[in-house]
Amino acid sequence: MAYLVNPQNTVAILQKYNFRFQKKFGQNFLIDSHVLDKIIREADIGPEDFVLEIGPGIGTMTQYLCEHAGHVAAVEIDKNLIPILTETLAGYPNAEIIHVDVLKLDIAELARQKNGGRSIKVVANLPYYITTPIIMGLFESRAPIRSVTVMVQKEVAERMRAKPGGKEYGALSLAVQYYAQPEIVANVPPNCFMPRPAVASSVIRLARYASPPVDTEDERLMFAVIRASFNQRRKTLANGVSHAAGLPFSKEQVQQALKQLGLLADIRGEKLSLMQFAALSNQLKNSLTE
Ligand code: SAM
Repeated sequence: MAYLVNPQNTVAILQKYNFRFQKKFGQNFLIDSHVLDKIIREADIGPEDFVLEIGPGIGTMTQYLCEHAGHVAAVEIDKNLIPILTETLAGYPNAEIIHVDVLKLDIAELARQKNGGRSIKVVANLPYYITTPIIMGLFESRAPIRSVTVMVQKEVAERMRAKPGGKEYGALSLAVQYYAQPEIVANVPPNCFMPRPAVASSVIRLARYASPPVDTEDERLMFAVIRASFNQRRKTLANGVSHAAGLPFSKEQVQQALKQLGLLADIRGEKLSLMQFAALSNQLKNSLTE
């Protein structure tokens, strides 16, 4: 089988099937073998691994994954790609093509059914229009995911690994860092894709924690407080949280909780670490029962 990462082979298969790129599906196919080698290496894929690939496209990365992994489940939404994948992956008995919208897929159930509930690794060149819902869906699914190694927009990768204080830091940084340790492992320019995306890309590896690095009595409350704190960046945290629909705290209650943690009453969300958000939400929860 000819590797698709060779641009001539990609063009040949696209022409054979008269394939039209669909912008709405975020279709930018990889055509650089160095990037693929790097992704496989950083994801640490071996014969014992079950890999979930989100959005295989024509199967460029899937071929590489199949050569290293025990099993690859490739989940693709675009029905026009299914016959192409059937051809390009024909030589790989360990490849499984699943035609479904990944946002509608029960990933915990997939791991249970296809891998006996053992942990899986996620590897993908993600469709950028739904990066955040995919990443959050993976972690919130409670599926046994060991790691997530994905190509994303460079700016989004920076946000995922941002620390308190900077302008990139926000709800996405905190959510990702609650579940995993992020590391940017490669920066990838637009000319590594066909067609070229308008933005620069990065590969980020999210190594899942066995248990979250902070203690929170109520995870949902903590994330609601985090979202409210970043809703309007120019507002103070106390204003954001006290005005959030669905949160029952007055401005005074929030200011009091901040004070008890040794924080300023007019502090902004971007100054608080994950540990401080966990402590704040615990404090607020207790204030409801006082
Ligand atoms: N993995 C291929 C590669 O690297 O060449 C293609 C990557 S392309 C950036 C993103 C892929 O995700 C496309 O094949 C697109 O059709 C698919 N996709 C988009 N939305 C999806 C969804 N909701 N569920 C599953 N696949 C999706």
